Amino acid sequence: MDNLAYERLHANLKALNLNTIDTILDNHLEAAASEGKSITDVLDHLFEEEVKTRNSSAMETRMKLAGFPVKKTLEDFDFSFQPSIDPAVINELRTLRFVHNADSVCLLGPPGVGKSHVAIGLGVEAIRKGFSVYYTTASSLLDKLKKAEQRDQLDKKLRTYAKYKLLIVDEIGYLPMRREEAHLFFQMVSRRYEKASTIFTSNKTFSEWGEIMGDTVIAAATLDRILHHSTVISIKGESYRLRARRRVGIQSFPVKEATGGAP
Ligand code: ADP
Ligand code: MG
Repeated sequence: MDNLAYERLHANLKALNLNTIDTILDNHLEAAASEGKSITDVLDHLFEEEVKTRNSSAMETRMKLAGFPVKKTLEDFDFSFQPSIDPAVINELRTLRFVHNADSVCLLGPPGVGKSHVAIGLGVEAIRKGFSVYYTTASSLLDKLKKAEQRDQLDKKLRTYAKYKLLIVDEIGYLPMRREEAHLFFQMVSRRYEKASTIFTSNKTFSEWGEIMGDTVIAAATLDRILHHSTVISIKGESYRLRARRRVGIQSFPVKEATGGAP
């Protein structure tokens, strides 16, 4: 290849953002020439590599954007420790049909039983399948919505939350909502209703949501939308954190953990 063509080829690869091909081209062409590979084989390999790096860097970007507080996967979850979770239900959720159908998932149960782990694990599965995911705690969500409302940008903020294919709202019920917060929460739920999927986790039963939201009417309207198309998983059983402590011999852990105290 003459110098001019060589320079132009690399310049065009850069112009088209084919950065992986640009990087591996020289070595690959040399190897291909010595091995007598066909042009189709060479092009196939180069484009395969480009697509592979793009997919994995897009996945990394989506992982970063999701803002998970910790990385948890369903592969790391010990289902034998939590027999109240039906593996068939998890297998169904793993297909991500619920994301395609814009359905909700509710994970309920006391602290430490794996609600956040399962929620994040499903979020990671969704990212692997190419969906945009965002994780937030209920208190951080309400904080951001309140701030946006004060700046007269509530609608814009709600639209931002509405655009994620899967939103995870963790830790509903650890902090009670004020009336205006309950309204904001209802608006967020309404925006996503039948349009995009949301996973909710809570240490409180649905009958306690009136109390959490400080208004039984808004709580009923919110739950009506959440539960219309929803999978509810009530995790009963022991805290995994407690079990880990027991295993290292710490027996006298306060009973608060089992009754729904702080996370
Ligand atoms: P919750 O959100 O219900 O309070 P977490 O999901 O935060 O509980 O779980 C507490 C800790 O225990 C986390 O580190 C989580 O990864 C781990 N954990 C909980 N249940 C399991 C399980 N069945 N298998 C493996 N790890 C678990
Ligand atoms: Mg949690």
